[in-house]
Amino acid sequence: MPDHFRKEKINPCVKITLCLWLCLSISIIKFLWNKSLKLFFLSIQRKIVPLCHYLNNNSREVKIIHVDMDQFFAAVEQRDNPELKGKPIAVGHDAERGVVSTASYEARRFGVHSAQSIQVAKRLCPHLIIVDPHFQRYKEVSAQLHEIFHDYTDLIEPISLDEAFLDVTENKKGIELGVDIAREIKQRIRETTGLTASAGVSYCKFLAKIASDWRKPDGLTVIHPDRALDFIAQLKVEKIWGVGQKTAEKMHRMGIFTGLDLRNMSLTRLTQEFGKMGQVFYDFSRGIDNRPVISEWERKSVSCEQTFESDISENSAVNIHLYHTVLELVRRIEKNDFEGRTLTLKVKFLDFQQITRSITVDHILRTKDEILPLAKQLMHSVEFHSHPIRLLGLGVSNQKSSTAQEQQPWVELELEFEPWPEV
Ligand SMILES: [Mg+2]
Repeated sequence: MPDHFRKEKINPCVKITLCLWLCLSISIIKFLWNKSLKLFFLSIQRKIVPLCHYLNNNSREVKIIHVDMDQFFAAVEQRDNPELKGKPIAVGHDAERGVVSTASYEARRFGVHSAQSIQVAKRLCPHLIIVDPHFQRYKEVSAQLHEIFHDYTDLIEPISLDEAFLDVTENKKGIELGVDIAREIKQRIRETTGLTASAGVSYCKFLAKIASDWRKPDGLTVIHPDRALDFIAQLKVEKIWGVGQKTAEKMHRMGIFTGLDLRNMSLTRLTQEFGKMGQVFYDFSRGIDNRPVISEWERKSVSCEQTFESDISENSAVNIHLYHTVLELVRRIEKNDFEGRTLTLKVKFLDFQQITRSITVDHILRTKDEILPLAKQLMHSVEFHSHPIRLLGLGVSNQKSSTAQEQQPWVELELEFEPWPEV
């Protein structure tokens, strides 16, 4: 056999070394490939998702206006009583446990704000004038506002007496630009009521609401779809819907201060930290909010809940917190002009176990004196001495008298509780 056909013997050590090199090279290539591929897809996703949404919205040309009256209750009081003009006033009941419903801008300069104790407000602003609320007048102005809104669209979603979303995509006057409609509405509100409103215009509710708050009072802000991502990027997280004080503090601890920081967080991490709100924050940071303006929306309940800094199990502490929760609930009932007959207590314990207890009466629950005894009655049925409480909530629902519920007063109800003071 010629020499060149003879097989050369390879040293086993060289074979092993070659195999090891081959394995190592494959692993390195695989690792780099996976990493790059993942990064590649992530970068594509970050660009594509907002772009798709932008194109989607652009093709639909959704135009939403959020109208919000400036310092509403206080403004009505100052309008109706010229002596109060230019003075620091707070609307609320001047009682030991009274709460500020609305403060005038003059009072806000002293740190007075809504949901604050009247006594604290008076300490902050010694010459503060406390004015009793006149809900009938506020309701009349609210009706005037809705008359104006209906000249443009019937797609109106009221949030409270002085606040509403309007979908003006197909408006009755055929006006092309949302900003022109907002300007007209503001002017008509001023002429009709003598009061000022702030308006925000955008392609979704979340941004329209932020926009109306951007240049208060008497403001008008537009957030165009093509500017939305840049606008959100610099937005402080505190401005984002659903981010209250505690959530903001948690986000800060996670290094999230702006919309851009939020956008850089993975959906998995946000869901882990914030539960179902994680998805909402993830979407908002990308300018995604597909909630429609629902005109037939009718408030089914008014509620509030509070998570405590440390768990409570003493009778005195529970009673004090229950009392304050009742006051906050009464404030919200007044603000929304809500009429309900069922009171629901929600309690979450140290171990996150949660219970609700409800009671239905045959009259409308509006005042502290009507609600507090019922709240105490419900609380009485809860064993908390050996089971500390981390969260307490109260809600009123059931606008129409229900015979079934009256016959069976202790029922478990599904009620969406709204955080306090988170909102
Ligand atoms: Mg307002």
